[in-house]
Amino acid sequence: MKIHEYQAKTILAKYGVPVPRGEVANTLPEAADAARNLLANGATGVVVKAQIHAGGRGKGGGVKVTFNQADAESAAAKILGMQLVTHQTGPTGQKVQRLLIEETAAIDRELYLGIVLDRATGKLVFMASQAGGMEIEEVAAKDPTAIIKEEIDPAIGLAGYQGRKLAFALGLKPSMVNQAVVFFQSLYKAFVETDASLLEINPFITTKDDKLFALDAKMTFDDNALFRHAEVKALRDVAEEDPLEVEASKYALNYIKLDGSIACMVNGAGLAMATMDIIQYAGGSPANFLDVGGGATQEQIEHAFEILLSDKNVKAIFINIFGGILRVDRLATGVVAAARNLNVTVPIVLRLEGTNVEEGRQILKDSGLNFQVGATMKEAADLVVAAAKVGA
Ligand code: GDP
Ligand code: MN
Repeated sequence: MKIHEYQAKTILAKYGVPVPRGEVANTLPEAADAARNLLANGATGVVVKAQIHAGGRGKGGGVKVTFNQADAESAAAKILGMQLVTHQTGPTGQKVQRLLIEETAAIDRELYLGIVLDRATGKLVFMASQAGGMEIEEVAAKDPTAIIKEEIDPAIGLAGYQGRKLAFALGLKPSMVNQAVVFFQSLYKAFVETDASLLEINPFITTKDDKLFALDAKMTFDDNALFRHAEVKALRDVAEEDPLEVEASKYALNYIKLDGSIACMVNGAGLAMATMDIIQYAGGSPANFLDVGGGATQEQIEHAFEILLSDKNVKAIFINIFGGILRVDRLATGVVAAARNLNVTVPIVLRLEGTNVEEGRQILKDSGLNFQVGATMKEAADLVVAAAKVGA
């Protein structure tokens, strides 16, 4: 689960990470009040920052540095409600529904910090780079040596010597090293205690008076650990998520929307991946990833159908099921009921294997509805790609 920058900064501040003073604003009067407050209390300027679940806001026009009340208000008026397009939002962009009004910092240097899980070693990796402020993916591609990495032993945590190593690699002044080590350790603690899956501070800045700040903050959390973090779970902003993915999550369906024309309904993540591959191999393109799970109920199958059909790009449906816990006859009954109840008109192609497969095939046949069944995965993929072409 992703959260907004202002929310991440609130969490980090609780762990003692220095962040600029700021306030979130949902409306223009709130933005004006926040700016007035900061300017009246020692801020030399205010930064108006779009709050969306995507990076690259600066380049897209979603971050404006201003030095008086009037400019802050006009920047807020421009950004609030805009359709902000960045390299992470896709071409349609994301509507800005919230602003962060923050005091400006006297930036000396813009650096980069990140914590991610290295799945190969199963350990967290602390990353730092002098090339902060810009897209770190670009830095990683062009000059991987510009990113320093420290692997963290989970039993020890981020050790002092590792923090010092990172601080020196960032070229921090010796007088700032202790401050930096505390900063890094606070970030690490925040990451571990909230069950985060990603934490990025870009830019991590030094100021002209030798202070350190998290000027930007990105945090993502492990969905499987949210049950033990009610306060994090409460930060979810569904307005930032794909509406169909939000709907799917209500029924415990693992659904990711894609931009092709063939909807997939599959049980098991591995089979779902293989299904998307074979659709591509057969010359088509998948409209989604959908894992209905090992023990899907008829109700879940109906909801899955509703979600697949509300995607207007869908021209055909490919149901690829290996019946184990989910018996094929029960799935077939669910599919027939859903197709009837929802009055499905797009072609449906199935590939069924596993427990009670013969009974399942018979149920489809007896329904009198127009299903196509492929004997193998490849045959079914060819059938569904052809059906989607006719539909388009
Ligand atoms: P992103 O583009 O979505 O990553 O948004 P950031 O929060 O990283 O802001 C983008 C850029 O705006 C930063 O790299 C800074 O150069 C600039 N910026 C943000 N806050 C301030 C500030 O307080 N003062 C100044 N001078 N620049 C700022
Ligand atoms: Mn940034």
